[in-house]
Amino acid sequence: MNEPTDFLVIGAGLAGLAFARQVQAAGATVQVLDKGRGVGGRAATRRFGAARVDHGAQFFTARSPEFQAIVDAGLAEGWVKEWYRSIPEWRDGTIHPRPDGHPRYACPEGISALPKHLAEGLTVITEAEVQGISWEDIGYVAQAKDGRQFAGTTLILNVPPVQLLTLASDLVTPEDATLLATATLEPCWALLALLETDLAVDWPALELTNHPVFSWIARDHTKRGPGAPPALVAHTGPAWTAAHLEESQATVEAALIAELETLLGPLALSQSQAHRWRYAKPLTALDQPYFWDGARQIGACGDWCEGGRVEGAYLSGHRLALAIE
Ligand SMILES: Cc1cc2nc3c(=O)[nH]c(=O)nc-3n(C[C@H](O)[C@H](O)[C@H](O)COP(=O)(O)OP(=O)(O)OC[C@H]3O[C@@H](n4cnc5c(N)ncnc54)[C@H](O)[C@@H]3O)c2cc1C
Repeated sequence: MNEPTDFLVIGAGLAGLAFARQVQAAGATVQVLDKGRGVGGRAATRRFGAARVDHGAQFFTARSPEFQAIVDAGLAEGWVKEWYRSIPEWRDGTIHPRPDGHPRYACPEGISALPKHLAEGLTVITEAEVQGISWEDIGYVAQAKDGRQFAGTTLILNVPPVQLLTLASDLVTPEDATLLATATLEPCWALLALLETDLAVDWPALELTNHPVFSWIARDHTKRGPGAPPALVAHTGPAWTAAHLEESQATVEAALIAELETLLGPLALSQSQAHRWRYAKPLTALDQPYFWDGARQIGACGDWCEGGRVEGAYLSGHRLALAIE
């Protein structure tokens, strides 16, 4: 086990990274553990054939000065671009334009550029799935699946609430365990599809209302540079997801391709894949920007605390750091 750091963060999602960046900038030592091969959690991009496809978060907005500063840095350095100001709505078979003038941002290399940028200069240990956490003389000690141990004086959890309580229900008070259990995330299936030829449409994406299967369809390549291979990403709505949650990837993939072709017409698909997000988007939030117990030196952050979405996750971690550093 290495020397205990001031902060031990479990989860290198946007919230955990925003937290770690801020406390490190203030002079603290911090290490961040994540079970994934890379950072970013649901802000994820997959290499898919010749394409890079965002299969989790699709775009982000910036309504707070803190997150706008990150976006502005990305715009200046070229890893963020303004994608569109209007995403049309599909409703009852008709597409309705919805110009609201509010910029939606994307990353030309894929949305994982955002967490990668936040992780620069941080000590992030990937492929470290935490299976247990104990409180010992030296502070909190996290046990990874492969036997490694990591210690820190203050523990910050940036994992979905169900996983948080599995790891730490005996580290928080019973009242706080009850509070944390009120936050829930709902699941979603994503279909990734590479096309031989692009669709003959002018929309970058559609938000679907009252569609029996889909809630979102994006021509993902419109976020990339010129010449990017045409690719679609489709997300399922809550009712369809609930009815098909435990089906196999192959079954869901076939069903979603058929539904997509019913909606859009025949597709010249070269490759496709389904991905299940078991904890996709907040259904019920904590209604506070973060969780913090100063007596026990334990905190939690994530999109499920208050704001939801990419910006909400960032703000949750950032504001927790400002509150306790
Ligand atoms: C399909 C989908 C579409 C979305 N679309 C949008 C969108 O268009 N715009 C938008 O703003 N937001 C969107 N979101 C939401 C956005 O992705 C999230 O709000 C944000 O990424 C959440 O960040 P987070 O830090 O709270 O959590 P997460 O990204 O979930 O990070 C948690 C991290 O904890 C790690 N972890 C979990 N358990 C362990 C463990 N035991 N040990 C170690 N590490 C662990 C995970 O690997 C993960 O990296 C979407 C999400 C999904 C799934």
